[in-house]
Amino acid sequence: MSTNHGEPYKVYLSEAEIPQQFYNVRADMATDHAPILHPGTLQPVTLADLEPIFCAELARQELNDRDRLIDIPEQVLDFYRMYRPSPLIRAYYLEKALDTPAKIFYKYEGGNTSGSHKLNSAIAQAFYAKDQGLTGLTTETGAGQWGTAMSMACVYFGLKLDVFMVKVSYEQKPYRKIIMHTYGADIYASPSNTTEVGRKMLADDPASLGSLGTAISEAVERAVTSEGRRYVLGSVLNQVLMHQSIIGLEAKAALEKLGEYPDILIGCAGGGSNLGGLMAPFMQDRLAGQRAPHFIAVEPASCPSMTRGRFAYDFCDLGQVTPLAKMYTLGHAFMPSANHAGGLRYHGMSPILSQLYHDGYLDEARAVEQTSVFEAAVTFARAEGTLPAPESAHAVRVAIDEALRCKQSGEAKTILFGLTGNGTLDLAAYSSYLDGTMSDYIPTDADLARSFQSIPRLPGIQEGFADESQG
Ligand SMILES: *Cc1c(COP(=O)(O)O)cnc(C)c1O
Repeated sequence: MSTNHGEPYKVYLSEAEIPQQFYNVRADMATDHAPILHPGTLQPVTLADLEPIFCAELARQELNDRDRLIDIPEQVLDFYRMYRPSPLIRAYYLEKALDTPAKIFYKYEGGNTSGSHKLNSAIAQAFYAKDQGLTGLTTETGAGQWGTAMSMACVYFGLKLDVFMVKVSYEQKPYRKIIMHTYGADIYASPSNTTEVGRKMLADDPASLGSLGTAISEAVERAVTSEGRRYVLGSVLNQVLMHQSIIGLEAKAALEKLGEYPDILIGCAGGGSNLGGLMAPFMQDRLAGQRAPHFIAVEPASCPSMTRGRFAYDFCDLGQVTPLAKMYTLGHAFMPSANHAGGLRYHGMSPILSQLYHDGYLDEARAVEQTSVFEAAVTFARAEGTLPAPESAHAVRVAIDEALRCKQSGEAKTILFGLTGNGTLDLAAYSSYLDGTMSDYIPTDADLARSFQSIPRLPGIQEGFADESQG
């Protein structure tokens, strides 16, 4: 194939053009999301509730619905200069392979060692901890992307980090563990015998392979029982979406240089942070009543929180130690099927994205099956060179579908999607796709009705959800 198109393949902003402020979309939302509730009192959480768990500045950011722009600290900008601005890439080769009149752009966040966009928030969170005089942080990680990003961020600021890694991943996914060790983190297979909750879980079930819920409970306990430590989380939270706005701000600035504005904006959605970040400045246009793209959130058909979940208050974790958030949820007891290899397995969704979706500002959610996701990933890898992370490949699937639709209609739409990470450490999933052992699983209505039963009944706030119609 020839690159003889006369236009740039990649657009890099200059270092001086890295955004200097995060954008807080909550300041512009017509309806703010419902308040986060304290799990004990069922009252809206206050700063005083959050500060024993989170860094003080991050607790403030979590509750901040007023300030549109928050200055990015100079020390965070210094770190961003090591791997940002990230490139905005025109997928010419994919366009050719699909023979589509659509213009496809993607913002690639997989070029740093952690391999994903998660580093954008990790470094901000570590900075605020350091600035507060804390000595260390605790967190949980499933497959390991967030733990890796946090390890890089903590070593940069000289903070200790305890990572509670879901035991099944700890045993089956050694490579991210090795990266975390390289960056100096202490890793515990969860459930561990180093916390009260962990010991209790092991006493109940010595063979337990753990879950994110277990790991969150352990990480929170370690934070609140240690001097100078706090707990950090890599998605779902308002603060995380705000840090990730750097993705959208850069993408918008780069597109402006080309005189382009997207007609369609696509992102994969696990807890909602990359999509929330990519779409933030375009959502600002929508909320101001100006031109805006058609926004599409893509989720796995095996974990369909937006397309089939309930908009309800639910716990953010299985262990019910976290506050209640009003969000699209499958019920905190939901477990994706064991054959699900593609990430994005969280039962809920960011309260910000949930509210925007509920109010019709986020236009559409689409669920896709994993074999079609990996088919798109392979098409993309062969055309564009980069091997997508399985999570990112959900967005690739829908970008390809939209481009093929343009081919049929002859419309030359401009498509922007987020390529959140690279798949180099996800080769086991690629292998099962390539050898034909990967299968699809879509939960039945009966499966979901069962998991909806874990959405709590909250007297005076909400009744049960097991057998209501969707909504
Ligand atoms: C964690 C992760 C996601 C999903 O998280 P969001 O908070 O929904 O963005 C997507 N892509 C990659 C590569 C990830 O590591």
